[in-house]
Amino acid sequence: MNCIFCKIIEKQSKAEILYEDEKVISFLDVNPLNYGHALVVPKVHCENFLDVPEEYLPDMFTAVQKVAAGIVKAVKPDGFNILSNNGRLAGQSVFHCHFHIIPRYTQDGHKFRMSFKKYNDNGMKEIAEKIKDCIITNEEINNNG
Ligand code: AMP
Ligand code: ZN
Repeated sequence: MNCIFCKIIEKQSKAEILYEDEKVISFLDVNPLNYGHALVVPKVHCENFLDVPEEYLPDMFTAVQKVAAGIVKAVKPDGFNILSNNGRLAGQSVFHCHFHIIPRYTQDGHKFRMSFKKYNDNGMKEIAEKIKDCIITNEEINNNG
């Protein structure tokens, strides 16, 4: 498989590794938004967040917190973003799930250009009901698995 993150996991491609355990690896992003910008990656090939096997999720989030705490201590940012792009339209360019940890500074000049929508009438309730109906409960997962 021609996946750069799998190659990094398998040590066939070089990376500045920050943290590694049985299920997760973290390394510096080669094109940082600020110095110390890191990626946290599950050690299993999965295209996006929805494809991450459940047994990887707790370790992934623990690693995100560990690495974020290390970055904060090391480069003393004014804040940090944790984000994951899922799908080309959402900005994903490497199709192996990952989380970005981006240290932020008051004067770094980065801006998210988003325009917010407003819900009208019952819009908020309707979309909430629709999503709630689609969330798989633990019970359903157990029954199907
Ligand atoms: P995304 O655009 O959210 O899919 O993020 C992919 C990130 O991976 C980008 O920020 C790239 O700079 C970074 N990246 C791509 N190749 C490498 C690599 N070999 N080592 C470290 N980071 C990489
Ligand atoms: Zn991969």
